[in-house]
Amino acid sequence: NIRKPITGAGLREVLANVPHTTKAVRESDLNNAINTDRLFLTFQPKVDMNTKAVTSAEALVRWQEPDRGLIFPDEFITLAEQSGLIEPMTYQVLDLAVKEAASWKDKGFDIAVAVNLSAASLIDLDFPMKVAQTLEKYGLPANQLILEVTETSAMIDAQKTLDILTRLRIKGISVSIDDFGTGYSSLVELHRMPFSELKIDRSFVMDAHKDKDSRIIINAILGLAKALGLKVVAEGVETQEHWDFLKDAGCDIAQGYLMGKPMVSADFTAWVQDWKS
Ligand code: C2E
Ligand code: CA
Ligand code: CA
Ligand code: CA
Repeated sequence: NIRKPITGAGLREVLANVPHTTKAVRESDLNNAINTDRLFLTFQPKVDMNTKAVTSAEALVRWQEPDRGLIFPDEFITLAEQSGLIEPMTYQVLDLAVKEAASWKDKGFDIAVAVNLSAASLIDLDFPMKVAQTLEKYGLPANQLILEVTETSAMIDAQKTLDILTRLRIKGISVSIDDFGTGYSSLVELHRMPFSELKIDRSFVMDAHKDKDSRIIINAILGLAKALGLKVVAEGVETQEHWDFLKDAGCDIAQGYLMGKPMVSADFTAWVQDWKS
């Protein structure tokens, strides 16, 4: 099973044939993209399972490079975190998302916007004030903003994060625990954090119709969330089967391809009009 290392022309040939999705991204390119507005947002609806109302939309970042096409966040969030570019990126995403939500409000839509945070924001004590400034800049009420935080990033410095999340909650901003069930945090620790919403990770939803353990986990998460007074969102709802199971289980909100994929601004507002009628 031992192979000779590939070098020279052979290596160039191998690299040229690497599939589209594994192309490397560079820090200088990402820095450039941030400074020249080549990052943009797509919006994916979250729908109330009882009323079918669109309660919010998650902002999901994309990177457009003229010669390389569309780059998805899984390819550059880690680089952004490692290089420190996550901080300017997060503020740019926040600004774009709040601006967008303010425009929905002007159109008469009652839809909150959800923004993903990385660990860096959860140790930045200036973050709550900067969020408040952004809301003020666009005249968006605080209750129209949701910040999504993974359990893993919340536990890096739990004390500081608790402080930051509490300041955000006092301002009226909602905080959601993302990808729930995939981290290693204890329920005791999580319970101290002022979350208002819990998102069940897609991996459990995906398997729920064919795997008993996934169903048991979903039911347990729902029981726990209800006891703690949290709204529950299921991610990755792709089929009617997923929807039916989750609705019967008592899930509040659904997000996934069944309702809508992440869409650019104009497509999202058209989708909302269509969904309502
Ligand atoms: P996430 O927060 O768990 O976001 C949900 C991901 O699942 C999105 O991938 C979305 O497009 C995808 N998805 C939604 N519904 C379905 C479905 O029904 N089926 C399947 N198979 N997938 C679905 P995306 O947009 O590629 O984002 C990946 C991750 O990148 C996000 O996972 C989030 O952790 C991160 N991310 C995205 N935007 C930002 C951002 O602005 N800031 C930060 N820090 N992270 C971001
Ligand atoms: Ca998220
Ligand atoms: Ca998620
Ligand atoms: Ca996820």
